[in-house]
Amino acid sequence: MAKKELKDVSVSGKKVLVRVDFNVPMKNGTVTNDNRITAALPTIQYLIENGAKVILFSHLGKVKVEEDLKKLDMQPVADVLAQKLNKTVKFVPTFEGSELEEAINSMANGEVILFQNTRFADIIDGNGQICLDDKGQAAAKRESKNNPELGKYWASLGDVFVNDAFGTAHRAHASNVGIASNIAESCLGFLVEKEVKMLSQGVDQPAKPFVAILGGAKVSDKIDVIENLLNKADKILIGGGMAYTFAVAKGDKVGKSLLENDKIEVAKNFLAKGKDKIILPIDNIEAPEFADVEGKITPDANIDDGYMGLDIGPKTVELFTKELQDAKTVVWNGPMGVFEFENYNKGTKAVCAAIANLTDAFTLIGGGDSAAAAIQLGYKDKFTYISTGGGASLEYMEGKVLPGIAAVQDK
Ligand code: AMP
Repeated sequence: MAKKELKDVSVSGKKVLVRVDFNVPMKNGTVTNDNRITAALPTIQYLIENGAKVILFSHLGKVKVEEDLKKLDMQPVADVLAQKLNKTVKFVPTFEGSELEEAINSMANGEVILFQNTRFADIIDGNGQICLDDKGQAAAKRESKNNPELGKYWASLGDVFVNDAFGTAHRAHASNVGIASNIAESCLGFLVEKEVKMLSQGVDQPAKPFVAILGGAKVSDKIDVIENLLNKADKILIGGGMAYTFAVAKGDKVGKSLLENDKIEVAKNFLAKGKDKIILPIDNIEAPEFADVEGKITPDANIDDGYMGLDIGPKTVELFTKELQDAKTVVWNGPMGVFEFENYNKGTKAVCAAIANLTDAFTLIGGGDSAAAAIQLGYKDKFTYISTGGGASLEYMEGKVLPGIAAVQDK
């Protein structure tokens, strides 16, 4: 059943708790990339315009040691948000207690507050004390272990809960599942609504032919994705470091390439099950070491002794491009090679170009490194959608239920 959306809910005059994803990169107390803040603006602006009392909160990094309480303070995020909204954003430097409650209770319609990093509750216990284990590591874990009292408490602060944090939707935390399970009304924010719509179109209702492209470092990270997509896709093109475990399963030589010995059997089973659905590289670019040095094109799938495969070769690019030609749906997760190296980004770039050339296809990148690669290589606007959540979109592709979304009310 479809989840309730922001426009299904009346927000005027209500205290609206909004879980945003403000987990932005920071350096010395400064936000170094504000994309995630920008991405949350449509939901925030809609709520302001519709007279809600807008109570924002997010995690920022992982709060593991006491020092993180200084490093991962949300104040700089509130400052950036205020600039972007051109409006006062009241920052509340705590995530529970009377200061927060009073700030919320004195809000006028259309006002915005941001409260402190929700993961401070991982190191601060219910008595306001810092709680560490014998190694000096955060031990309260109230946010990340979905402490029931904390979820209930946060839910008690508002009338409506809006989940607009896709990046943490695959986690059951107090600030998403905990609140959604304890509040009268909940819905998805615009950002999460779009993510769900796009991933569902790509993975659950793909127009055929459906071609999936999987790459990246490890087979072990993608086993569940392959399993799920084998039932849905017409073709699965495999590149990147993970292709070498498949190559060994097929009987090819891989030299010093990335190899997961304990996943060779899994790869064999996939090849047997997938038959001609799974397409592997037929040539590679190999190097004697893991470095950005000029490589050598192999004549076939085999890698020479003493070498490692760092990118797919030109014949593979041609093959993959041909396989993509008639696709109506393309879902991609994981680069085709070590795209961070100038000498080994050609395969990833060529796949980007092949997808960009499809004029009549729904094309989706599932977050993480492939999204970074496509953006870095200049193909940001060439896909129907680039997911903002690495882990969350991977779990969606695995066919898993995302708890942060499941907990929100149905329409
Ligand atoms: P993932 O996070 O699993 O999508 O993996 C992305 C990482 O895989 C990137 O940092 C790539 O550099 C790396 N990668 C891709 N192809 C290879 C390869 N042939 N050998 C080693 N690492 C690779």
